Amino acid sequence: MNWLDSAQLRAALQAGGHTEAEQEEEAESILINSCTVTKRADRQVRQEILHAMGLQKKVIVFGCGPKVEKKEWEERFPNISVLPHKEEVIEYFGISKDQLEFPLHDRTRIPVAIQTGCDNKCTFCITRIARGKTRDFPKEKIVRHIQQAEKNGIQEIVITGIQLASWGCGNSLKYPEKSQFATLLSYILKNTNIPRIRMSSLGPQFLNDEFFNVLKNPRICDHLHLSVQSGSPNILQKMNRGHSEKEIYEVVKKAKQIRPNGAITADIIVGFPGETEKDFQETVTMAKKIQFSKIHVFPFSPREKTGAAHFPKQISSNTKKYRAQHLRQKAEELRKNFFHTQIGKKTSVLVEERETGFSTNYIRLIVPKGRSGEIRNIQISQNNIKHT
Ligand code: SF4
Repeated sequence: MNWLDSAQLRAALQAGGHTEAEQEEEAESILINSCTVTKRADRQVRQEILHAMGLQKKVIVFGCGPKVEKKEWEERFPNISVLPHKEEVIEYFGISKDQLEFPLHDRTRIPVAIQTGCDNKCTFCITRIARGKTRDFPKEKIVRHIQQAEKNGIQEIVITGIQLASWGCGNSLKYPEKSQFATLLSYILKNTNIPRIRMSSLGPQFLNDEFFNVLKNPRICDHLHLSVQSGSPNILQKMNRGHSEKEIYEVVKKAKQIRPNGAITADIIVGFPGETEKDFQETVTMAKKIQFSKIHVFPFSPREKTGAAHFPKQISSNTKKYRAQHLRQKAEELRKNFFHTQIGKKTSVLVEERETGFSTNYIRLIVPKGRSGEIRNIQISQNNIKHT
């Protein structure tokens, strides 16, 4: 979503007659799109601002950081412009908001946002504060964007959002089974010809029977990225995730029945307040049982305005570091195991650059003489897997 915000802004500014400087020294203004998901991300943004200020440029910061704490940013950096929303940034440059359309360029894959915001109340999450309440985008607009992408030769879209699988739930996140996400996917499949549809992070509780029916369509990539966060029932409850560990196992079981070669990837937080060694081991066990092919491991980062930052039994940074390292090592082994199970299988690869690309089940493969944007059917072997 963050990438998409920058891309929209870039396209709107270019449409308004501005050009992107190749070197920051040549720029008149430096725009910084901030991320506040962890303390580390926040720190990096602050460093970028100081660096830009040192270049004596006009500095504008926008995005999730100032959306959460505009006043604090203004007080801390009185000489820069703090404009939380991208609409404010383009207005600052005298450009109409109508220019904030769907950005297109020569990428082979492009994210398409179907909603923004989230009505869940996960106790660790600052994103829901930054992004606000759920707003679903109309299906006609989504399809129009995908058709535009198709016309521009893009071969794969990544369905994107903050809590995308909740599309169509309205204000009833208490009833996740009412999600219309699968209905939206069917509508996209019917009204577009884009060859590949990938989905970004999915909340397991929203994946109903209709979803698994749609998953049978070969245009949907062999890849589910799940927002898992923990394998411990105790911690999932403290996180207020809105799903249990049993639902995660259930979703994976159904997905594997339909897509036996599908990749299952996950986001996991370690060192959440009160996480015992037993809780952590339950997460490791889940990773092994499910055989995730990739895990994004995040050590818990307390964000001041969230409940979990004030929970008792905060975990020491050493333990967080140790658990993150341990899980990352395990994830690396599982990733290799997954690659091993795929050797000899045929797959389709979307070639990106330097003669490599991703298979539908998210393995980076070498495609000799592959041209960017081309979809090639190849057999996976020890030699064509690109380990990165
Ligand atoms: S589901 Fe939870 S973690 Fe994800 S955006 Fe919503 S509140 Fe945040």
